Amino acid sequence: MADTYDIVIIGSGPGGYVAAVRAAQIGLKAAIVEKDPFYGGTCTWRGCIPTKALLENAAVYDQTRHAKDFGIGTGEVTLNFGAVMDRKTKIVRKMGKAVENLIKTNKVDAHQGYGRLAGPGKVTVTAAGGKVTTLQTRNVLLATGSVPRMLPGLAADGKRVVTSDEILDLKEIPRHLVVLGAGAVGVEFASIFLRFGSKVTVVEMLPRVVPIEDEDISAELAKSLRKQGVTIHTDVRAGNFRATSERVSLDISPAGATGATGTATSPATLESDLLLVAVGRRPLSDDIGLAGTGVKVDKGFIQVDGYMRTGEPGVYAIGDVVPTPLLAHVASAEGILAVEHAAGREVRPINYDHVPSATYCEPEVASIGLTEAKAKERGFDVKVGRFPFTHNSKAPILGHTEGFVKMVAEAKYGELLGVHIIGPRATEMITEAGVALSTEATVEEMYRTIHPHPTLSEAMLEAARGVFGRAIHT
Ligand SMILES: Cc1cc2nc3c(=O)[nH]c(=O)nc-3n(C[C@H](O)[C@H](O)[C@H](O)COP(=O)(O)OP(=O)(O)OC[C@H]3O[C@@H](n4cnc5c(N)ncnc54)[C@H](O)[C@@H]3O)c2cc1C
Repeated sequence: MADTYDIVIIGSGPGGYVAAVRAAQIGLKAAIVEKDPFYGGTCTWRGCIPTKALLENAAVYDQTRHAKDFGIGTGEVTLNFGAVMDRKTKIVRKMGKAVENLIKTNKVDAHQGYGRLAGPGKVTVTAAGGKVTTLQTRNVLLATGSVPRMLPGLAADGKRVVTSDEILDLKEIPRHLVVLGAGAVGVEFASIFLRFGSKVTVVEMLPRVVPIEDEDISAELAKSLRKQGVTIHTDVRAGNFRATSERVSLDISPAGATGATGTATSPATLESDLLLVAVGRRPLSDDIGLAGTGVKVDKGFIQVDGYMRTGEPGVYAIGDVVPTPLLAHVASAEGILAVEHAAGREVRPINYDHVPSATYCEPEVASIGLTEAKAKERGFDVKVGRFPFTHNSKAPILGHTEGFVKMVAEAKYGELLGVHIIGPRATEMITEAGVALSTEATVEEMYRTIHPHPTLSEAMLEAARGVFGRAIHT
C-alpha cells in the first residue's frame, strides 16, 4: 500500500500551494492535487497577476502620452495590443513556473488530476485519461477556489460576452466596453480598457462603486472615473441581455433610491461590442465528494471554524471556497494557519478586521479595518482624520495628486480603527496601517513615528495628526 500522507491539499492556488510549502517546511509529508495542467490557481493565471500586468501597461501608456508634462518629447505614442497581451502571458507563465518550482524544491508530491474526498483519510485523483489513484492521508485541505459567477440566461462566448477569464484572451481592444459590476474586478478592467482607448460604461446594482469600501472612497473614485471619461450607472437593475455576432445590448432601469455616488438613471438600453460580467465568484465545492461527510456548505461556501476546520474530522478548507474575503493573501494566510494547526502547532485564528484590501484601478484604492460607518455601527465614538494628496510633498512630483488618506479612530484614546486610501501607490501604503492595527497602535503612536520626506507616506502621518486637528500641511 502507498505511504500515508500527513496532508493532501486539493488545489494549487495561493491558498493550496502556500499551504503545501509551509507543510513541507514544518516536516509534514504533503501532496498537492491540481486539475489544471499548471500550478498557481486563479491568482496566477486568471486573477491578480495578469490583471496587474495589464494595469501596468495602461499606466505606462498613460504616462508616456503625458510625458510632455515632464518635459519629455516622445513623438506619436502607439499601443500594440498583441505585444501587451504577450507581455502579460510571459509574466503569468514565469510566475506559474515559479510556483511549480516551489512545490518541487520543497519535495511536495504533485498529482495532476481532479481531486475528491473518498471516505475518511482518502482522496481520489482522476487524471485526464481517466486513471484513478487513491491517496491515503491523515488530513485533507480543500483549497479548490472559485470561478466567475454568470447571470442566469447569459453565457460567456468569449466574443461579445466575457467574464474576467475570457477577457484576458481578447485579440483586440473593444470600442465600447460595458462592465457589469463595480467591485474590484469591474473597476480594474474599466481602468485598463479606458486607458487603452475604449469607451467604458460601468453598471452597478448597488448605490455606489466599490461598495464594500468606505463611502467617501466610493464617492471619490466615482468622481475620478467620471472625470476620466467613464460613464457610471449605479443603483440600476440590468436585464434583457441580447448578443449577436456584432453587438451586445442590455436594458437598465432604476433599482432604488439614488445612492452616494449615483445619479438618477432613467430606463435605457446600452449597446456595446463587449460586455464584461463581473458580478462575483462561485465557490467550487459541488463535485469534490462532500456528500455524506460532516462538511457543511452554505450557498456553495464550505463552513469552517477559526482554525479552518470543517465539520468532518481531519478535513480543513481555505481560500475562495470558504466564506471569508475572496483575496489571495487571505487564502495564503488561511493555508498556513490550517497546516500549522494540523501539525499541532500553537496558532491564532485570523482577525478578518485586519485584512487589507487593494484595488489597482486608477487612482488606486486600499483599505484596512473598519469604515467610518461600520465603526459607528459597532458603537465606537469615532473621530476622523483626512489628508488630501494635493497637500502632500511627493504626489505633485509624481504627477498624481488625486485622492486622500482617511483615518478612522476611536475618539477618547485615539485607537486606530481603520485606514482608507485612494490615490497614488495606495496599495503599497496600506501595509503601514496593517502593522499599526495588528499592534493596536493609537493614531498618536502613528504620527510620533517619523516618516521620511518627501514621501506619499507622509499623508498617512498627516491623516493621523488630523484625527485630533493637528495636521501641519492643511
Ligand atoms: C480578475 C481577478 C483579479 C484578482 N486580483 C486580485 C488581487 O489583485 N489581489 C488579491 O488578493 N486577489 C485577487 N483576486 C482574487 C484571487 O485570485 C483569489 O482570492 C485567489 O486566487 C483564491 O485562492 P485559492 O487558492 O482559494 O483558489 P484559486 O486561486 O481559485 O485556486 C484553486 C485551484 O484549485 C484547483 N481545483 C479546483 N477544484 C479542483 C479539484 N477538484 N481537483 C484538483 N484541483 C482543483 C483549480 O484548478 C485552481 O488551480 C483576483 C481575482 C480575479 C478573478
